[in-house]
Amino acid sequence: MELIEVKGIGPKNLNLLNKLNIYTVEDLINYYPVKYDCLKRSDINNLDPDMRVIIDGRIESIPLVIRIKAGLNKMNFRLATNDQIFGVSIFNRAFLKQHLSIGTNVIIIGKYDRTKNVITASDIKLGTLGNTMKIEPVYHLTNGLTNKNMSTIINMALLSVGKNLDDNIPDYLVEKYNFTNKKTALNIIHNPSDIEKLKSSKIRLKYEELFEFMFKINYLKRENTKLDGIERKIYKKNLLDIYKILPFNLTKDQKTVLEEIRVDLNSKKRMNRLLQGDVGSGKTIVSIIAMYLNYLSGYQSALMAPTEILANQHFNNIKKILGDRVRIELLTGSTSKKDKNLIYEGLESGDIGIIVGTHALIVENVIYKNLGLVVTDEQHRFGVNQRENLKNKGLSPDVLYMSATPIPRTYALTIYGDMDVSTIKEMPKGRQEITTILKSNEEIEDVLKLMYEELKLKHQIYVIAPLIEESDSTNLTSVNELKNKMNLAFGKKYKIDIVHGKMASMTKDEIMKKFSRGDIDILISTTVIEVGIDVKNASMMVIFDANRFGLSTLHQLRGRVGRGNIKSTCILISSVDTKRLEILKTTRDGFKLSEEDFKLRGSGDLFGTKQSGDLQFKIADIREDYKILVQAGKDSEEFLEKTAITNLKLRDKLINKIKQS
Ligand code: ADP
Ligand code: MG
Repeated sequence: MELIEVKGIGPKNLNLLNKLNIYTVEDLINYYPVKYDCLKRSDINNLDPDMRVIIDGRIESIPLVIRIKAGLNKMNFRLATNDQIFGVSIFNRAFLKQHLSIGTNVIIIGKYDRTKNVITASDIKLGTLGNTMKIEPVYHLTNGLTNKNMSTIINMALLSVGKNLDDNIPDYLVEKYNFTNKKTALNIIHNPSDIEKLKSSKIRLKYEELFEFMFKINYLKRENTKLDGIERKIYKKNLLDIYKILPFNLTKDQKTVLEEIRVDLNSKKRMNRLLQGDVGSGKTIVSIIAMYLNYLSGYQSALMAPTEILANQHFNNIKKILGDRVRIELLTGSTSKKDKNLIYEGLESGDIGIIVGTHALIVENVIYKNLGLVVTDEQHRFGVNQRENLKNKGLSPDVLYMSATPIPRTYALTIYGDMDVSTIKEMPKGRQEITTILKSNEEIEDVLKLMYEELKLKHQIYVIAPLIEESDSTNLTSVNELKNKMNLAFGKKYKIDIVHGKMASMTKDEIMKKFSRGDIDILISTTVIEVGIDVKNASMMVIFDANRFGLSTLHQLRGRVGRGNIKSTCILISSVDTKRLEILKTTRDGFKLSEEDFKLRGSGDLFGTKQSGDLQFKIADIREDYKILVQAGKDSEEFLEKTAITNLKLRDKLINKIKQS
């Protein structure tokens, strides 16, 4: 059933729902309230003056609308409760008048002025409160859609899906935990009548979401162990020989990780390893060595980067380290057709040992002679079908993922349960300390001065613009405004430019390239600049509204500077939440910060912006629901391994779902 077929959804509402990322009936009924408003009759004679009052009663006088001026009107009426009479006023609700007359039962929420005996209402609802609590779901909305609309539409959708809503929990578990069916649980979530039932329905839905998630993790893990990998014969001595060609000594952690990778490469089991370490901890060099080892064993390697500019950067890096020891090529959207064809030939013949490029280019329609290792940068997880895709080509490469987002251990075990994890904790020697400074919004002048000092030294600066949530266009205004301000301050002498998420990726890459060439002095960006970008001459990071970000994200942003041997500074601007931000002044340990984030704000922040795809739960919250997650993990593993005949269909369904994702 299509969304538009739901009663109450016309083209206008459809559009609004799409704005909230609701595209299907399923999205809609799974659009959970962000919170609940608990309406309980106030004891109006024992009320703190500032507390909101909630009462219900009968309208006693014909509601009167007074137009105060354009866009402002006020409605007045008298309200009788069991034992008292009040005056009620409410602004800008003239449109409700048609539903209100003498005798109508209403619920009033507002502020009570005892001396005037008037309640100034902020909201008015039809109905009575009854003797228990009335629980109202509150939805995240968009302009043009009221909470009431949303509630109505969702209920219409719930009606239209009928009884047989797919349950994704096997019967025996539903029985074991005494869960209600999904339809009932959803009904309660959207129309709760008592707290206990609401709680158990929530648990039911959280469990299902986590069950499916862990089923996927367990499935991937199992599939992976089934796959035969390549056996190589790489000796410790081979590794030591490579160390000799490096321009620096590796850290102990880097060596440990390389030993782990060597063992993986030699083993017949397919490698599926996550390499995590702070920005700048030297993950890339580890992957370069792994690729070289793979080359020496007679196989090709591919390094996939999320963006063209990162692919470029990696390419140059590898060239610098390995020189002409192996043929290395770069394959991106800007590679000319002619060069592309030469590269395809080289990959097919096996002449190219290492290929670097953007994601899709490397997997799709490319024929390899013998791909043995795939490295993906920044956690671009390789979907099952990409693996299948390679398998169909007769390839079963080892896979190494690199991620600069440290994840708390307990958490990583579950989420990355299908992978082995290697960690680099130690930073290479001689890294510049990055000074972190906290400034309030009133101290902008200080910030500008500090920026000017830096510019005079011919250093470059990143600026993260204030974040405005309402809409993307205001967000852009804020960057442009900031650009104007910066232009006023520095525009005569220095070049200032902006990048933002709405730009075409070509344009974005072009600007990033200019910045890395030093053609731009101040780069203003809306959100997080591409992870991994490495500009050694950039020595200052200025972050407006720093309080908006998780500590890990701020730490990552800070890691954009201090990449060369220039003393670097990170300025956090915020007048609120300073206690949390202070942690950054003293801590440079990404793991500690991510634990801190996890404690303070849950998992959402661990992954910055778009990388969180894997972990965006609709109702579950990994931090709060860790116990459910662990239980669901055990249950789903059991379900995957030994299933009663009756549940086979569900298992196949879940597996198909994974294969299609
Ligand atoms: P990451 O990928 O973890 O962000 P990189 O591998 O890009 O980090 O390393 C950052 C910089 O540090 C690079 O310029 C790299 O050449 C350099 N580097 C890496 N390991 C070491 C080391 N052990 N000693 C000195 N410099 C190093
Ligand atoms: Mg990197």
